[in-house]
Amino acid sequence: MARFEFKKSPVFEFANPTDWKDWRWQLRASLKTLADFEKIFVLSEEERECFGGGDHPFKIQTTPYYASLASRTQSEDPIRKILMPHVKEMSSGFQEMLDPLGEKKNNPASRIIHRYSDRCLLLVTDTCSVYCRFCTRKHFTGQEQAFLKNEELVNALKYIQDHPGIREVILSGGDPLTLSDGQLDRVLSELRKIEHVEIIRIGSRMPVVCPQRMTDDLVRMIKKYKPVFLMTHFNHPRELTEEAALALENCVDNGIPVFNQMVLLNGVNNHEAIVQALSRRLLYLRVKPYYMFQCDPSEGTDHLRTSIEDSLEIQKRLWGHLSGLAMPHYSIDIPQGGGKAYKVPDFQISQNQNVRTFEGWDGVRADYISPEASQIKKPLDWEMYLDEWLSLKNSKNND
Ligand code: SF4
Repeated sequence: MARFEFKKSPVFEFANPTDWKDWRWQLRASLKTLADFEKIFVLSEEERECFGGGDHPFKIQTTPYYASLASRTQSEDPIRKILMPHVKEMSSGFQEMLDPLGEKKNNPASRIIHRYSDRCLLLVTDTCSVYCRFCTRKHFTGQEQAFLKNEELVNALKYIQDHPGIREVILSGGDPLTLSDGQLDRVLSELRKIEHVEIIRIGSRMPVVCPQRMTDDLVRMIKKYKPVFLMTHFNHPRELTEEAALALENCVDNGIPVFNQMVLLNGVNNHEAIVQALSRRLLYLRVKPYYMFQCDPSEGTDHLRTSIEDSLEIQKRLWGHLSGLAMPHYSIDIPQGGGKAYKVPDFQISQNQNVRTFEGWDGVRADYISPEASQIKKPLDWEMYLDEWLSLKNSKNND
């Protein structure tokens, strides 16, 4: 069997193939209204209802490129479920929060979310090219705030400058790659002037929903500010088109490491066959499958959420069949800002003092015998790194 085939996206009849390759055209020609969607999709009555008025809880928009990956006729198609609003979004469900990650509690300056000691988010825009129905940041995204005002940028940079414990800054939003190259260049160059910022990450769905955005100019510009990591969000192997594959390879070839964070979604990708297909293709493109998230209880997402039991079952079935490189970490964000909780299968079946008995994924049973506690010694040179460790550990409290 050939390794993997990444197919070109099908260009819509009404689009010019040159326009199709232009990310600005993709944004300009986005589908937003009922009439736009009806040009492409055969809509069910329930889908049509979602376009009913101006008070829809979450904005509706997709690029033509991303729409072309979805079924025109089947409402239950996985890609269609990500981009198409559902009538269930409009009624309250069993657990729905506007701010499931408790970000508003950790918002010390406009556009800054500072939850963990060593890193913070900088929300550079609230605009996206596709409004994903599972979005976890509905308290901020899609509210026409766009690029941060000059005063907000100055204040956000001052906050980062004044907190030397911040080693990583994650550009997020909205989608940072909806900004122009010039706007991004400015933010990145200002961040690089701050001595203590070691790593910059850019969180973006553009490689998924508009890979045309990853132009040579953009990649060259980002490369100037290394180390910059691109964190992207492919959820389904059908999103890996030829355009997306080339965009990802362009980043990696230019020294921009790419990590993927997927979300397990009901009826979209909650099957081990789909997760393995996505992970292996990503890894082949040198993109590390990083996280497999439980969907947050964000407003309007109850019908898209899977159960934790379903997710654990998927993880268990994958165990032993996907290498550590290909296996994403399964993680749940504890609601209200409790941070990440990792769940892994527990293979230990018993313990007797320093002897633990395990049974592996395919039934191999054996003991691991630990040395006596008295034999455990710390490395001779650990104190060389003590100050660095303490400053990292205590950075949020000491700043
Ligand atoms: S691109 Fe990200 S921020 Fe924008 S709607 Fe999708 S998940 Fe939300």
